[in-house]
Amino acid sequence: MTLPSASAALIERRARLLGPNVATFYDEPVHVVKGEGVWLWDADGRKYLDCYNNVPHVGHCNERVVEAICQQARRLNTHTRYLHDGILDYIERLTATFDRSLSTAIMTCTGSEANDIALRMAESMTGKRGIIATDATYHGNTALVSQLSRSNIPEVGFGLDQYFRHVPAPDSYRNPDPDGALFAQAVAEQIAELQASGIGFAALIVCPFFLNEGFPTQADGWLKPAAEVVRKAGGLLICDEVQSGFGRIGSHFWAHQKQGVVPDIVVLGKPMANGHPVGAVVTTPEIMAGFRTAFRYFNTFGGNPVSCAAAMAVLDELQDRDLMAHAARVGAYAHERLKALAQKYDVIGDLRGSGMVFGAEMVLDRESKAPASEFTDRVINKMRQRGIIHSKLGRHKNTLKIRPPMPFGTEHADLLFDTLDAVLAETPLAA
Ligand code: PMP
Repeated sequence: MTLPSASAALIERRARLLGPNVATFYDEPVHVVKGEGVWLWDADGRKYLDCYNNVPHVGHCNERVVEAICQQARRLNTHTRYLHDGILDYIERLTATFDRSLSTAIMTCTGSEANDIALRMAESMTGKRGIIATDATYHGNTALVSQLSRSNIPEVGFGLDQYFRHVPAPDSYRNPDPDGALFAQAVAEQIAELQASGIGFAALIVCPFFLNEGFPTQADGWLKPAAEVVRKAGGLLICDEVQSGFGRIGSHFWAHQKQGVVPDIVVLGKPMANGHPVGAVVTTPEIMAGFRTAFRYFNTFGGNPVSCAAAMAVLDELQDRDLMAHAARVGAYAHERLKALAQKYDVIGDLRGSGMVFGAEMVLDRESKAPASEFTDRVINKMRQRGIIHSKLGRHKNTLKIRPPMPFGTEHADLLFDTLDAVLAETPLAA
């Protein structure tokens, strides 16, 4: 397709200044210049409904978060080797949302860094390096963590992938595993393999909502059998809640709580400070002490006063506006609207989600369940042309990924699904 000249010039400039292969969304990338609540505006003044962004968790340019950042930035911002109340007040408030055992935290600037620390904590605690992850996940971009990815496998990484093993990502649609026993069995096999190879087993790392895997439908407590296998083998359970946390799933503040497990380590990021770069690793005092002794960790920016003020304002907004309950209500409504669309369009094979993360797997036919990946791509691009921003994910990249800022309401869901209805009606299955 021919892009408008302003977009083409920006794309050329990006490639020249940032290098090749820097991803953008859509055949015609959106040039955003302003955001407010659940809305984005492009450089031509066109308004888009944002059904995708989980980073501006409490809404784009949330007034309370912006004010907290500005006030603290005016007073003091510095590195983290001084005494300051901000980080302590925040960690107290944050850890109060977890099981009592998870009472300490390290603040970082990204989810990748936080996952990197989590893996090193597992090593310092177990004396082993073997890590198990799913084969359709993503946990970040450091030399260590990037090696966990199986799609887009990094070709460089200091050979660290020798320590990693993969289990098939759960897929409730094609390979039902209603009580998680098959997943636990696959984990047990990889643990045995790591032990036999002499590497040993340190940890299982999963997103407890399996978001990057396409968020398969799972009964409460689904992860329990795998957690038991991990504990029995002397390993740790790391839950990467970078996408699934802070009330997004509506039923629980953390997705691991829905899974009925208490992880040894929880990793946080994206929505934590509404776009200000903040991540964290939450763990037990024992693991923290082991790690701090082994590594003497220091992070210049992680937990600085401005970051903590922004993160605290997010917790205030979630609480005062009761946004988790709101997510549950809107999510239930969205599910009903999706169900109605599934009765109309055979291409919708399976419905997914909970709270403010929902979607559907698109298939060529419901019998074979063959993924309609290319069709999904066209749908997403047409939605963008009509002013609705969302995306796709999962192993086959055929699951609609709808994960809006938490203030997204039923009126926004109506606009989203009315538009999706129109797009599905006009889009042929074959290109
Ligand atoms: N974990 C998960 C589950 C993620 O989805 C991501 C980012 N997409 C990360 C970790 C990495 O976070 P960051 O980009 O902040 O390093």
